[in-house]
Amino acid sequence: MEPFNPSNFLVLVVDDLNINLQIVGAILDSEGYATTFATNGQQALSRMKNAQPDLVLLDLMMPEMDGFQVCENLRSNHDRSEIPIIFLTASQEQKHLLQAFDRGAVDYITKPFNPPELLARVKTHLELKHTRDELKKAVAELEKLATTDSLTGIANRRSLLLMGENEFLRARRYNRQLSVLMLDVDRFKQINDTYGHAVGDEALTAIAKAIVSTLRKGDCFGRFGGEEFLAFLPETGLDAAVEVANRIRTTIAELSLFSGKKQVQMTISIGVTECSENDIKVDTAIQRSDAGLYHAKHRGRNLVVAISPTDSKTSYL
Ligand code: GH3
Ligand code: MG
Ligand code: MG
Repeated sequence: MEPFNPSNFLVLVVDDLNINLQIVGAILDSEGYATTFATNGQQALSRMKNAQPDLVLLDLMMPEMDGFQVCENLRSNHDRSEIPIIFLTASQEQKHLLQAFDRGAVDYITKPFNPPELLARVKTHLELKHTRDELKKAVAELEKLATTDSLTGIANRRSLLLMGENEFLRARRYNRQLSVLMLDVDRFKQINDTYGHAVGDEALTAIAKAIVSTLRKGDCFGRFGGEEFLAFLPETGLDAAVEVANRIRTTIAELSLFSGKKQVQMTISIGVTECSENDIKVDTAIQRSDAGLYHAKHRGRNLVVAISPTDSKTSYL
């Protein structure tokens, strides 16, 4: 984790008295914090939106909109709900403090300001926020790692099957169409054997990228295994899915990948099916698309074979 550096943090100071802004500004300056100021509630809210500070020092008593109202307004706005707000209070206002915590304040500082205390409180809450933000980033990164295939950057098998399961349930619940494509690179072992594993990796990455660019945004696609990919196409019936599959097939056949001066020829075979109400699980449809793929391989590769769920008739396309 990055070490704490005050200059990375912007503190918004809100007070209706200019002299208070100057005092607090100078204290924060001495430590290297970036600062921005507002002299009333309305200004504070617009500064929050535009400057996106990391922490707010908020005067409790201000004319028109007081600190409570500003705090409430900020807290109810989800985007800014995690920014720490510290109230600035005169000692005779102490009785209002409970109310301030109720509205979402994390701490308070009493006037007249004691610079070391002010700096200590600001630092504590910024460090807490910093740690929270870093944790969130780490969780997002881990989530990405856990769901992504490291070579191609597309969904890995686990997350792909989860997405497929979700699409399957959604299609069943709302009686919508859903098609499944099982894709397998033809004679991929030969590519590895002829050009080496590194070129094989490049080929897989190029193929994955080409398929992604052929599919629609709402389609789910990922790496099923070694040189096998799987796609779920929501709102797509069998005929349209076969068209998509053929578009993918020709796109891959036309891909140009070079190993030195030699062009690496790549083709792909695809099994296609659509889900039916008789499919108990998404696996049933996946298996049917796999059967289509098997036929495509058997009939010579660089082919699309569709299997209809109703009559289990296989059509070669
Ligand atoms: P077919 O047309 O019948 O599918 O033949 P194929 O050679 O593509 O199929 P096979 O299953 O015999 O070989 C697949 C090869 O894919 C074997 C395996 O070493 C290779 N492979 C699997 N994952 C990777 C990978 O991540 N990188 C590379 N370079 N090769 C891989
Ligand atoms: Mg293969
Ligand atoms: Mg294979």
